[in-house]
Amino acid sequence: MILVVGGAGYIGSHLVKELVETEEVIVLDHLSTGHREAVDSRAIFVEGNLGNEAELQLIFKRYPIKAVMHFAAFSLVGESVIDPLKYYENNVASTLTLLKVMLENHVKNFIFSSTAATYGIPTVDMIDEKTATSPINPYGHSKLLIEQILADFHAAYGLNYVALRYFNAAGAHESAKIGESHNPETHLIPIILQQLLGHREKIAVFGSDYETPDGTCIRDYIHVDDLASAHILALEALLSEKKSAAIYNLGNGLGYSVKEVIEMCEKVTGIKANVEMAERRAGDPARLVASSEKIFSELGWKAERNLEQIITDAWKWHQNQLY
Ligand code: UDP
Repeated sequence: MILVVGGAGYIGSHLVKELVETEEVIVLDHLSTGHREAVDSRAIFVEGNLGNEAELQLIFKRYPIKAVMHFAAFSLVGESVIDPLKYYENNVASTLTLLKVMLENHVKNFIFSSTAATYGIPTVDMIDEKTATSPINPYGHSKLLIEQILADFHAAYGLNYVALRYFNAAGAHESAKIGESHNPETHLIPIILQQLLGHREKIAVFGSDYETPDGTCIRDYIHVDDLASAHILALEALLSEKKSAAIYNLGNGLGYSVKEVIEMCEKVTGIKANVEMAERRAGDPARLVASSEKIFSELGWKAERNLEQIITDAWKWHQNQLY
């Protein structure tokens, strides 16, 4: 059985939908940002907090858990700057409690949701896992701290782990039964699609004077179902003992500017966007594009869905958003 912590969230719920095909799954989520409706009905659902040691002990005693996948983090960069305690408490302290209870119960396989925010403002065009990490906000720091803890626990206690550094997760399950639903929504693609649906008056482009060809920020958008399949491969690699400690980037290897993303949304939907140029948003690097060569060569994973597919699936979801 696999414990998926944060399995009611955006990325976790997509992973669960794929994982239930081959494994028994238990989801732990406190539903502060996740959605109960997003959890596949084939998974066992427990409402609770990963920082609650007694609750975790009960779960590990009751179920034969062989691996833990951990998605339950706060992930808004701006909020992390304003309220770092919230981030260090949940993303670091509660994760440490989870790891401690795992080790006490002899569960030694862990898959961790990390982030491109660990790189800070990289000086290279294609970021690979050897690129220096230097976070510029508490969110990125909180994730990098856990990566360090995992390396130390691997060396000291034999904890096996894969940390996956996501670039810009986007899109929705092809069934359109689950998708992205944040409140408030801060991410670019849902904001554009909400505007095209008439739920917002305009789209503010945060900065048009970056050192990029059209002046807007470039990001690497990766379909949430491609992220899910990477987790499945990472889990197989741990369970088969092919890997015992690894960090991988997960991206498409392609960069799209904010303007290009808006244009693609207009193309997919056939609707013209109402766009205004705005000030830069604090903490945004000009360009974040991943090399995912390492996970391709070691686990055979690569992104299957391009930006057009991402937006096509996201559009299906947003037109009939279920939660
Ligand atoms: N962005 C924007 N307007 C918005 C939301 C986002 O111009 O309303 C830009 C943002 O500055 C960044 C890119 O879109 O350059 C992707 O932002 P998002 O918040 O989706 O993801 P992040 O890169 O922060 O993880």
